[in-house]
Amino acid sequence: MEVNGTTNILSSAYLAVEYVDSLLPENPLQVPVKAAWNHMLQNYSKFQIATWGSLIVHELIYFLFCLPGFIFQFLPFMQKYKIQQDKPETWELQWKCFKMLLFNHFFIQLPLICGTYYFTEFFSIPYDWESMPRWPYLLAQCFGCAVIEDTWHYFLHRALHHRRIYKYIHKVHHEFTSPFGMQAEYAHPLETIILGAGFFIGIMVFCNHVALLWAWVTVRLLETIDVHSGYDIPLNPLHLIPFYAGARFHDFHHMNFVGNYGSTFTWWDRLFNTDSQYNKYSDKQAVKKDE
Ligand SMILES: [Zn+2]
Ligand SMILES: [Zn+2]
Repeated sequence: MEVNGTTNILSSAYLAVEYVDSLLPENPLQVPVKAAWNHMLQNYSKFQIATWGSLIVHELIYFLFCLPGFIFQFLPFMQKYKIQQDKPETWELQWKCFKMLLFNHFFIQLPLICGTYYFTEFFSIPYDWESMPRWPYLLAQCFGCAVIEDTWHYFLHRALHHRRIYKYIHKVHHEFTSPFGMQAEYAHPLETIILGAGFFIGIMVFCNHVALLWAWVTVRLLETIDVHSGYDIPLNPLHLIPFYAGARFHDFHHMNFVGNYGSTFTWWDRLFNTDSQYNKYSDKQAVKKDE
């Protein structure tokens, strides 16, 4: 019964996306992207695409998205958007973070990435251009993945804060009380595996093409680097997403250690009232601003 219900919801969502898709004009990017995709398929094996392709997508996107936040520290006019003004970025911390990150990426994440090919083979996930969902589908699927990942993250992250286990695993991620973008994946290897598992649940539910894997990696990195950036920049388009947590929300988690456990959305924290300390703090800040 429940499976049927979920299937119905999913097929209704697909129909809605199909309708939106039919209203959109032909995408001018489609021709060059198609040529590049087919070139990749002709020149590399599925194993190479799944392994090295995923590694390159992850590394490129990670450091590309970290770049704006990294540059902001040198721009005096951006300093008014820094959330914790009294704790500027230091070279020492950023270098330490960079080294740990490379270790994590190549010794923890790369072995996991090596499983991508077998994952796609096991679930018969296609690679060809013809069966690739168009971008409105990909976007809708990524949103679905984010809802699932956020739920997993909320409960497991909250559990990792339990005083009996906090110091063994999650303490590493909290080494920086004023986060910066590069710190998004700075974590204990076990945390990378425990919280990282949430990334794959959505993939198992929605994945019908290898392109979704890369689209979802991109969306997830964009989100986590934004919330760790330490800057609340104006006109951030991510804030158009309903219930989007954002940098102020997660920055407070690093400053306060208690509350705001969600990764992307605010609804679980609101439902369980774990955002009460944050709301009090925000109200106080607003009063201070008015004075
Ligand atoms: Zn935490
Ligand atoms: Zn964090």
